[in-house]
Amino acid sequence: MTNSAHLISFRKELHAYPEIAGQEKSTADRLKRFIAAYKPDKVIDRIGGHGIAFIFKGKVPGKKIMFRADLDALPIKEISEFDYRSVFSDRAHLCGHDGHMTILAGLAEELNNNRPLKGEISLLFQPSEETGEGAALVLHDDKFTGSIKPDYVFALHNLPGFQASSVIINENIFSSASVGLTVCLHGKSSHAAEPAMGNSPVKALSRLLDAVQTIQEGKESFKDFVLGTIVHISLGEKRFGTSPEYGEISMTLRAYRDEDMETLKTEILDAVKQICEREKIRFEYEWKEEFLSLENAPYPVEIIKRAARVSGFKIIRMDEPFKWSEDFSHFAKKFPGAMFGLGAGTGQAALHNPDYDFPDEIIQSGIDILMNIYRLINE
Ligand SMILES: [Zn+2]
Ligand SMILES: [Zn+2]
Repeated sequence: MTNSAHLISFRKELHAYPEIAGQEKSTADRLKRFIAAYKPDKVIDRIGGHGIAFIFKGKVPGKKIMFRADLDALPIKEISEFDYRSVFSDRAHLCGHDGHMTILAGLAEELNNNRPLKGEISLLFQPSEETGEGAALVLHDDKFTGSIKPDYVFALHNLPGFQASSVIINENIFSSASVGLTVCLHGKSSHAAEPAMGNSPVKALSRLLDAVQTIQEGKESFKDFVLGTIVHISLGEKRFGTSPEYGEISMTLRAYRDEDMETLKTEILDAVKQICEREKIRFEYEWKEEFLSLENAPYPVEIIKRAARVSGFKIIRMDEPFKWSEDFSHFAKKFPGAMFGLGAGTGQAALHNPDYDFPDEIIQSGIDILMNIYRLINE
């Protein structure tokens, strides 16, 4: 059993010095220094950017298991006043990735105290989870493919709103596919008194708004839940003499299933093309922050349930996937794996809220269940 005071102070150190996606250099350095004391058999750094992995090898062959944590913080100002609050005014660990990292660091300590007998354990700290880019970067890096060949992959995410240290399980799809879409509309400006002399994108914009609504309500096209959320619109300038030339619309598309996401993307893009053709508006578009649907595999889910029971944690089964997205989906597509939620307490602020903070009381629970996952697979 780990005495967790040093882990809590490490978590607070990570919390005080957050780095956002793609910039996690000093966070990776802190992990490297901290985990070096626990004598990993191998350290691989700079994977897919600032990603870093620590490998603990057993004495005899067995299953290779990878546990994943995430390095990045969010570009949001923290409003909490505690002494370990973010030293930066424009970024903070408001998704608890500081806690996830600490759980894996604590697992490294346990693995040093009880050197694994069978198989191999990789602790992977991936960059850029929040932008949906990091997992793919890691998976395409030769340093990853050459050294880490997991039989099973696991990850956890802390979940406010659930009893502390409860284990939240989805048997099938854990979280949704999502993607951002920005469409830029170019018409022709004119005097506001003579809008017909130009071609404002306003009509195309308003038709597009209707189309996004109609498409997502088209139940016959989709097997399961889909959602299109308009996140930003702009049109012209506050110049009262001018009918605008330029408009822009951004939306986030979500679906439980990848195939529904493909249908949704196609239908929205077809609508953009048709509307712009009819309104004689030139357009371009860009997809951003693409996440796949996270599909849990049956055996890893079974192992999580057994590990939760061994650890003595309450299991909460979800009936529906979560509507948010997780970059771990890329790993779960490639290797049999599963993600689960670790309850962060019912009094906690929600993830990404400016007053959220990871609860230190669940660090040891996270370590325990991951250790039990390893043991159950390699017993
Ligand atoms: Zn997040
Ligand atoms: Zn997160």
